[in-house]
Amino acid sequence: MQYDKFFAENLGGLRAEGRYREFADLERNAGSFPNAVRYANGRRQDITVWCSNDYLGFGQHPSVLEAMHEAINRCGAGAGGTRNISGTNHYHVLLEEELADLHAKEASLLFTSGYVANWTTLSTLASCLPNCLVISDALNHNSMIEGIRHGRSEKTVFRHNDVAHLKEILSNQDLDRPKIVAFESVYSMDGDISPIADILDLCERHNALSYLDEVHAVGMYGERGGGVAEREGVMDRVDIIQGTLGKAFGVMGGYIASSDNLIDFIRSNGNGFIFTTSLPPALAAGARAAIKILKERNDIRNRHQERAFTLKKGLLDAGIEVMASDCHIVPVLVGDARLCKIASDELLDRHNVYVQPINFPTVPKGTERLRITPTPLHTDEAMDHLISAFQDVWVRLNLRKAA
Ligand SMILES: *Cc1c(COP(=O)(O)O)cnc(C)c1O
Repeated sequence: MQYDKFFAENLGGLRAEGRYREFADLERNAGSFPNAVRYANGRRQDITVWCSNDYLGFGQHPSVLEAMHEAINRCGAGAGGTRNISGTNHYHVLLEEELADLHAKEASLLFTSGYVANWTTLSTLASCLPNCLVISDALNHNSMIEGIRHGRSEKTVFRHNDVAHLKEILSNQDLDRPKIVAFESVYSMDGDISPIADILDLCERHNALSYLDEVHAVGMYGERGGGVAEREGVMDRVDIIQGTLGKAFGVMGGYIASSDNLIDFIRSNGNGFIFTTSLPPALAAGARAAIKILKERNDIRNRHQERAFTLKKGLLDAGIEVMASDCHIVPVLVGDARLCKIASDELLDRHNVYVQPINFPTVPKGTERLRITPTPLHTDEAMDHLISAFQDVWVRLNLRKAA
């Protein structure tokens, strides 16, 4: 086996398909979000970021930074161990209380990322519940898919957001058999929202555990930022809510919120929770500050929605094909991997506008897109610049126009 040749050929294949990943080398400037500096070709370029998952700019919020500085000064850098071996810091305990309160659940559990939260919780439930069946939405995030796979129980996939299909699957199952229905609230590539109440109706009728990923909704939807389930008034009916501290809350880490017993069960059996160093205390302090602030800031949530709505309208008026989206995400269809990458490069090189191309396998082939995430901190002026940049690139590359 010639290992290096194998790796090089694989990469050559990705390049030929136009889906080789290049990372923009950025330096975020605290206090001037969403502006940043890009390092390329030996120079520094001032750019505006239009594709960050720091959806509300809280990664640079002064109170979040202050909480982190204070925690570093009090506790130092790292947590010093796994949760079990001296790594449970008081900031973790306070944050878990805050998260349980956010979702009005008995308890919550922290993980080092949202990815690990999904992976660990689903794999632990699927492998421990006897004869478990996991029923998973077709467009679920990779972290859920991998967790379910690792759980090695029987699994089945229902068509995306298709309640009738889910009903059909559940109706064929014994009421007593352990079942988990895993789905998301906001699907972040298309920007559509699942029929949560209908899915919960089915879970209750068929005695299935409901597992809801609210990663793209926590902080941004609901009266206190509890997510879409809070907005729809059904949060109390979801058995397990999963979220991240890395997107709207601006820091890093993941969690689940649920009943005392379920949380204690994952705490006691979940390998991805047990065998890893816990989050630095400063991260926990920063996330807690962000959650506390956002519980009381519907004005930020409203401004966020207004920005997304205004951008969608502006792009459509300019003839750019925005995909239908029910939320803060603005996907623009390109439909070709190579062109999508070139369009992104041109926006960045010629217009100082950074929008990352989204290609297969993140989305199906033929639906390659630019995914824009306007935040409350993107001004009208920045938006006008973005729209004219898109118009210029669309003409230059002869890309598809809205009907
Ligand atoms: C980003 C993401 C995750 C993972 O969260 P991280 O905290 O970034 O690891 C989980 N689920 C969905 C739907 C995501 O988009």
